Amino acid sequence: MQTLKPHAALLASPGMGHLIPVMELGKCLAVHHGFDVTVFVVAPASSIEESPIFSSASAPNQLELVLLPLIDISGLVDSTTSIVTQLVIMMREALPSLRAAISAMRARPTALVVDLFGTEALAVAEEFDMLKYVFITSTARFLAATIHLPTMDVKAQHEHRILKKPWEIPGLEPVRFEDTFDLFVNQTDKSLYAEYTRIGREIPTADGILVNTWQDLEPSTLHALEDGKLLGRVTKAPVYTVGPLVRPVGPNSESEVMNWLDMQPVESVIYVSFGSGGTLSAEQTTELAWGLELSQQRFVWVVRPPMDGDASANFFNVSNSQDGTPNYLPEGFYTRTSDRGVVVPMWAPQTEILAHKSVGGFVSHCGWNSTLESIVNGVPMVAWPLYAEQGMNAAMLVEKLGMAVRSRTRPAGGVIGREEIADVARNIMGPKGNGMRTRAKELQRGATAAICKGGSSHNSLTQVAKECEIKLHSLSAKALG
Ligand code: UDP
Repeated sequence: MQTLKPHAALLASPGMGHLIPVMELGKCLAVHHGFDVTVFVVAPASSIEESPIFSSASAPNQLELVLLPLIDISGLVDSTTSIVTQLVIMMREALPSLRAAISAMRARPTALVVDLFGTEALAVAEEFDMLKYVFITSTARFLAATIHLPTMDVKAQHEHRILKKPWEIPGLEPVRFEDTFDLFVNQTDKSLYAEYTRIGREIPTADGILVNTWQDLEPSTLHALEDGKLLGRVTKAPVYTVGPLVRPVGPNSESEVMNWLDMQPVESVIYVSFGSGGTLSAEQTTELAWGLELSQQRFVWVVRPPMDGDASANFFNVSNSQDGTPNYLPEGFYTRTSDRGVVVPMWAPQTEILAHKSVGGFVSHCGWNSTLESIVNGVPMVAWPLYAEQGMNAAMLVEKLGMAVRSRTRPAGGVIGREEIADVARNIMGPKGNGMRTRAKELQRGATAAICKGGSSHNSLTQVAKECEIKLHSLSAKALG
């Protein structure tokens, strides 16, 4: 009998935090599990052309990238529309192009895999008789909370959202209000809650849910997810842990910052970055600069112009002081820190930096990709969550996994002061950080084991591949009559 090859179509929503793990899942399915893969991307063409993550060198032959036209949604949003709602609208508007693209394919893909913002496309998979999967590019804890959300009654919503009581999710640790989802905090975007609960209802209708985590990282949450009753609904969809899927270190990592890192002692540098979108206020940027300087630690800092009402005048017009320091950093900062720090404007080669032997700590917004990149390199973290589900991630890293420290101050619009920043930076890099470093290295070993042949995540994807092969055979039998 001729061997039939399963074909997975993956749909990625805009934002590096979604595109990167979806691409990595695609590569893994192609290289290790015998799939042909098409990745449909909803993103501006320029971001694709410029981004190294889509370079042909990093993509295997079995993977094809298809850019769906980005629809102009400016008529559908206003100043109160949150980023999440905008993403949802973009994905909704992209559905006709996705349908047309699948319909035009010579051979119909066996399965459609969507990320969190693509769950409305599960209906498209049904139209074409494809298996349908959701890929959660965050934690199992986030998945559990999202699935639980639609089952919250009015009283529970009121207690959490208005009275700020912890959010009780059966089988999980309660979520403190200061660590909760944006949708409970954001009171201006009226459609956010409705869209999010819809997503929470749609996820369990998939044939399977893939999560970028692994068995040993979140055993109790995964247990709660297996027991559908615990989360207040019966989930028919099996949960497959498939992580950590992270972008590998690129072949060409020559750059000024990498050359500088080559000259520093082992595990002596703290890397500071807030993901692809994170920006701090002007006051917070100043405090962070002073905090790094006072800490006397070596650092690499990915700096973006501050974003708040006060600083907006300078946002597109950044002038520099005499030593080249942008005017949103303290005067003379470059000169005073030139012997032990490097400032990288806007975007740095993060996976390469975290994999470098000189890096020994990571001040991070706790986006899940950044977190995974820290874990796979055994680097302890200073958790500095900003938005989305990052507060939940931070709580898990500090309280459950023991590989991160967090500031005492939790700035809900407030500011973490320079002394406190200097303190946490010294802690993570000094002897007090040794316990966290050891934990990070233990987690690193677990992560490596999960994705190796025979590891839990590798086995999960083997199971998904089997389901797709069965589907493929049933489709081909149907076609033969
Ligand atoms: N990233 C990078 N350089 C930067 C900032 C971010 O390469 O200067 C990458 C980072 O390695 C990660 C992704 O962008 O893979 C950010 O994803 P994450 O989930 O951490 O945060 P998000 O941007 O979604 O908030």
